[in-house]
This record gives sequence, C-alpha cells and structure tokens, in this order.
Amino acid sequence: MQTWFASLYDQGEGAQGVFCSATCRLRIGFVFFTPGMFERPDFPRFFSGETPLVGSVPYAQCYGGHQFGSWAGQLGDGRAITLGEVLNSRGERWELQLKGAGKTPYSRFADGLAVLRSSVREFLCSEAMHGLGIPTTRALCLVETGKSVVRDMFYDGNAKEEPGAIVCRVAPSFLRFGSYQLHATRGKEDLEIVRRLADYTIRHHYPHLENIKKSEGLSFEAAIGDSPAIDLTSNKYAAWAVEVAERTAYLIARWQGVGFTHGVLNTDNMSVLGLTIDYGPFGFLDAFDPSFTPNTTDLPGKRYCFANQPDVGLWNIAQFTGPLSAAYLISKDEANYVMERYGTKFMDEYQSIMTKKLGLSKYNKQLISKLLNNLAVDKVDYTNFFRLLSNVKADRDIPETELLVPIKAALLDIGKERKEAWISWVQTYIEELVASGVSDEERKATMNRVNPKYVLRNYLCQTAIDAADLGDYEEVRRLLKVMEHPYDEQPGMEKYARLPPAWAYRPGVCMLSCSS
Ligand code: AMP
Ligand code: MG
Repeated sequence: MQTWFASLYDQGEGAQGVFCSATCRLRIGFVFFTPGMFERPDFPRFFSGETPLVGSVPYAQCYGGHQFGSWAGQLGDGRAITLGEVLNSRGERWELQLKGAGKTPYSRFADGLAVLRSSVREFLCSEAMHGLGIPTTRALCLVETGKSVVRDMFYDGNAKEEPGAIVCRVAPSFLRFGSYQLHATRGKEDLEIVRRLADYTIRHHYPHLENIKKSEGLSFEAAIGDSPAIDLTSNKYAAWAVEVAERTAYLIARWQGVGFTHGVLNTDNMSVLGLTIDYGPFGFLDAFDPSFTPNTTDLPGKRYCFANQPDVGLWNIAQFTGPLSAAYLISKDEANYVMERYGTKFMDEYQSIMTKKLGLSKYNKQLISKLLNNLAVDKVDYTNFFRLLSNVKADRDIPETELLVPIKAALLDIGKERKEAWISWVQTYIEELVASGVSDEERKATMNRVNPKYVLRNYLCQTAIDAADLGDYEEVRRLLKVMEHPYDEQPGMEKYARLPPAWAYRPGVCMLSCSS
C-alpha cells in the first residue's frame, strides 16, 4: 500500500511516543510486547507507521455503510491502517491498527490524519469501557506526530491548526456491518465476496459455528408446539447472524446500563464482533435525558440519542442481514428470526441490568419506568444517582422526612411537589427491597458492582486533553488509572465523580462534532 506509506514517511522525524496503556501491556500479553518495548527509542517509529513492522502485511479495509439512515456507498478505512495481526501466547488473534497515520486508498477527499484531542478521547474511552466490563476495541499506545493538522472543529469556517496524533488500537477484528454490506451492492459477482468474508469471519472469529453445514434447503421449519421455528444447526450463516445480533443486543443493553451514548451509530461503526468501535463524539449521560445526543451533527433528528440506541441497533442488524440474504446465505425467514432474537436478547439483558442496578431480585417494570421518568423530570445525574441508591435501607419504619436522605446529594433543587413524587417512589422501592429479603450490606456490594462510581464524562476528557495539548500527560495517566477500576471507591479520587462544572456546558466539551 504505497499510498499510505508515502504519507507516513512525510510525517518525518517528529513522532514522539507519548503513552501506552498498562492494561493492554499486562492483560493482552502480546508475544513480542514487553513493558520495556514501549520505552525503546524506535518504538514511536513503528507505532506511527514510519517504519514497517518486520513481517507485517499492512492494509486498509474497504467497507461501506449507512450514515444517518441513508446508504453512503463506499467509505473504507480512510485513516486507519492495519499493521497486521499478532497471535499471543494464549492463541488469541489481535489486529493492530493505526488510526490517523496518513492517507489510504479510501481517504477520499480527506487527509487521513487525526488530531490529538480525538486520539486522547479514543484512547481513554476504549480503556474506560474495558474497565466497565463492556466489550470494546482497545488502545495500545498513542504517538504524537509532531505535525499539525487543520480542522474546522465547529464547521463554522474557523479552521485551526491542531497537534496530530496516532492511536494504535487493537481488537480481534475491525470488521464492520458495512464490510459485508458494500459487496452486496456491487452486483452478482461480488456476492461471492460476501460469502468468502462470512466464511472468513466464522472460521476465525466464530469457530464454534464452523462445522454447521449450509443445507441446500431452508433451515426454516414449521413451528411444532414449543419447538423453535428456525433450526440453527443446519445453516452456519444463520447461526452466525443470530450470534452477531445477540452480541449487538448485549452490547447496547450494557451501554444503556452505564449511560453511554455512542453518537454515530452508522452501520460502518458497528463491529461484527459486538464491540464498541470508533470513538468519536460519544458521551456518558450526566443529567438523565433520554433524548441526549453528544453529536452536534445529530442534533436535528437525534437519531443517535441515548434512548434510540436499542432501536438503531435493530435497524442496523436489519442492514447487516440484507447482504447475507442477497448472497443467499440466509433465507428471509432466517433474517426475520435474527431480528426477533435481537429484540429478545436486548429485552432480557436490559431488564436484567436495570434489575441489578436497583438491587432487586426480580424485574419491576412499573418501578423502573417511574424511576426513569423521575430522573428525567428532575435532570438527575444518572451515574451518581444509582451509586447513591445502594445506601437506601430496606426498612419500612424510616420516617418520611428521612426517606430521601441517602439520595439527597443527587436530587438538586427539587421543589415540594417533586419531593413528594420521590418520597412515593422510595416508599414503593423499600417495599420491594423488604420483599427481596437481601441484607442491606449484600445488596450494596452487588449494586456497586454494576453502578460505576466513575465514568469518563466528557469534561474529564477535556481537562486531560487541555493538559496534553501543552505536553503534560499526567492527567491522561491519572484518568486512565481511575477508569481502570470504575466500580471501586478509590479514596482521594472523588473529584472524578463530580458533575460537570459550568465551563463544560459548551460545544466542544459536552457536545462534539465529528471533526477529529
Ligand atoms: P467516522 O465518522 O469517523 O466513522 O468516519 C466515517 C468515514 O470517514 C470512515 O470511512 C473514515 O475512515 C473516514 N474518515 C474520517 N475522517 C477521515 C480523515 N481525516 N481522513 C480520511 N478519512 C476519514
Ligand atoms: Mg467510523
């Protein structure tokens, strides 16, 4: 791929290795990565792409995608370059990908570069998501290029020079829904590529499905009694599509649980492994607002707002099954079944997560709906509320005047009427807790394992970016450390659980554009 190597060499001498994630180093355990390797003076040359890794076959991926509901045609890795794959001592396959290392054959009209602020955000958030236990691509290291990149951050004609950077991100695969979609749009001959790509994906990433044969006939069978209508043991492609749908449903349910809003859920940003991928204008909820979108481009329709994510996931799954049907890998009934399984899996996971967040022993739709409604009306902080909720005691005798004490810190400035609504909710909640029979201590401990104390709020990212812009990475490192254990109390780190300060309520901090 001459194109991109050329542009990498253009980056010249300036590349500086800035930081790497301890988590990647220790837990992924690449065979050839040792802690000392990150300190080598030539490390930045390899991880800016300036010097090719010996034996690697770099490439950029070609894919398409639906952007904001419309087919956008070919997109591809416009600024991501896969250096190659490594197998670690556990036999795990990890793809190393540089983001922002220069033009590729798919860069179209753009420069193939990335700015420091978006690179720090991607680095921090992929590690923060991992800390939360949510499937995600990971970040291995960040290298400053020493060259500036011109960006019009607010799309208002005020382009500025910003420092450039390259993140090396890692995942078992960066294949996206759009990787399959593109080939199905290119006529009959390319349908064979859909099949080959599907075969490749199954062989390498879903090997447990490999031995299911694709039968000549449909795998659809008439439903008899309680038996399933679709027999997934006769078509590996259908079984695979169901697993992709279920992983996606699980992922989005987990996002809803921690208030993560991706911001750009285009089908080219949907991982076929069910990972959170492509960190752009994402945001964690501060005040609970179902219509929150962190993406300024998404403001007009709020297609990708917090509450829409589960439906968007289903819509995207429908786009994913399209090429599989077009290539005759799955039937229409199987495609419908895949979507049905998405819905079932999402509801199961979501109900289970919300039940755990409240420390209940069984799902209580009314109680949870009422709570979400209260949180929205009073704009209560999503993270801090649930963390405080574990302090409520299962005791019917607590006087009314003291019922709100455990959650008071999250209920700012509420009037008398709203106080009454909250008291009524807490009373019903306590009834449920008493009925569950779980001790207060035990419940608090289990709730704290699902309700994080720390999430990567956008203002925290911004503080770290402001310092990094001046060459100081201490705050980035501190944030990384805090976000490694988001469910722990971490004495001395309480300031990282605070609400956004007034300065953070401005575009570029709590709301972001796609300019990166
Ligand atoms: P995103 O919105 O970041 O998912 O990007 C959408 C598409 O635009 C992808 O194909 C990216 O690779 C491409 N892209 C985004 N920024 C750049 C850039 N600076 N240079 C080249 N391609 C880009
Ligand atoms: Mg993308």
